[in-house]
Amino acid sequence: MQSTGHRLRDVEQHHPLLGGEEEELKGVCSASEGRVWFIHDSCGMVCAIMTWFLVFYAEFVVNFVMLLPSKNFWFSLVNGVAFNFLAVMALSSHLRTMLTDPGAVPKGNATKEYMDSLQLKPGEVIYKCPKCCSIKPERAHHCSICKRCIRKMDHHCPWVNNCVGEKNQRFFVLFTMYIALISVHALCLSGIQFYTCVRVQWNECSDFSPPVAVMLIIFLCLEALLFVTFTAVMFGTQIHSICNDETEIERLKNEKPTWERRVRWEGMKAVFGGPPSLVWFNPFAGLQLRRLLMVRARKGGTEFSV
Ligand SMILES: [Zn+2]
Ligand SMILES: [Zn+2]
Repeated sequence: MQSTGHRLRDVEQHHPLLGGEEEELKGVCSASEGRVWFIHDSCGMVCAIMTWFLVFYAEFVVNFVMLLPSKNFWFSLVNGVAFNFLAVMALSSHLRTMLTDPGAVPKGNATKEYMDSLQLKPGEVIYKCPKCCSIKPERAHHCSICKRCIRKMDHHCPWVNNCVGEKNQRFFVLFTMYIALISVHALCLSGIQFYTCVRVQWNECSDFSPPVAVMLIIFLCLEALLFVTFTAVMFGTQIHSICNDETEIERLKNEKPTWERRVRWEGMKAVFGGPPSLVWFNPFAGLQLRRLLMVRARKGGTEFSV
């Protein structure tokens, strides 16, 4: 691209500037085009459905095996409200992570007109992704599942069927936090249930027969142990990354930061938006329902991308 006075460098060699990737690009679009972001990846969709199923299973055991048959009304009420509240927050965070554009770079924007509009200095090097034909901004990486370059891509998580990137990392952090919290809560309730029921007849303890109730609670404990281990580690890793202003990919590649690092609270503020407040814990923050409804009305139904 000598004519434009700057150099365009392919990240991978021997790829044309444009074209040749039409098949891969087919059907790819972004939320900025007025569509709901959703990745059509069968493995991711199965994992996401499984996540919901496991949370609903926990809801069933906690509500119908432990709390509703309990004779202690206030114990059931307080724990029921707390557990169901955390479960709703966890599932909402999951939905927001899955349906939020993680920071996709517009596809195929590596055109002469676009590069001219960037007003680059002579000799300045910019990078083009040969897979999605986009100009790759600093810290963006190509995701082969999303088939797009994602700004500040951390990793692709099949459990949320999406990439974790610049725009949805906060929801992913909330998802891991709320799942860890309901898992701890479920483990505590299971412990209390076992402690209470070994002192009385199991028949009086639950509406289910003792073997069924024990089986259901043991499976819940195994699930909760697995979930709390996985999500607590993930939550810790994410907070560590945010406080160091470094994504998982950058850490693994051991990339030297060329960007101005926003560390500790500055990093947290950048990801969660604004100074510390309760809004940080709200997965509904910034939800534009009106815009979603407008898209639905205009198009006669919500369209999904990728
Ligand atoms: Zn790309
Ligand atoms: Zn991805």
